[in-house]
Amino acid sequence: MTEGTNNNGRKQINNNVRTKVILKHKHGSKCPICNTKKYPLVFDHIYPKSRGGSDKSINLRLICARCNIIKSDKVISDKHLKKLGGN
Ligand SMILES: [Zn+2]
Repeated sequence: MTEGTNNNGRKQINNNVRTKVILKHKHGSKCPICNTKKYPLVFDHIYPKSRGGSDKSINLRLICARCNIIKSDKVISDKHLKKLGGN
């Protein structure tokens, strides 16, 4: 097993990058898209990794698990994502 990969062979986000993303998150435990505190926050690739998005902090942010599932690997605006979430 190589360093930085998990069991699926997908590269995990570097700890320094994680810290940077957490520090730039200004919404407490709230999701910046749907404003809820109901779901845990997860790391989101603003430009999906599956489409070539980077693991750099500029391309990462924290959103709730629900928005993350709705977003999946789509490139959509937060406004549109909020609509899809039905809030
Ligand atoms: Zn959300």
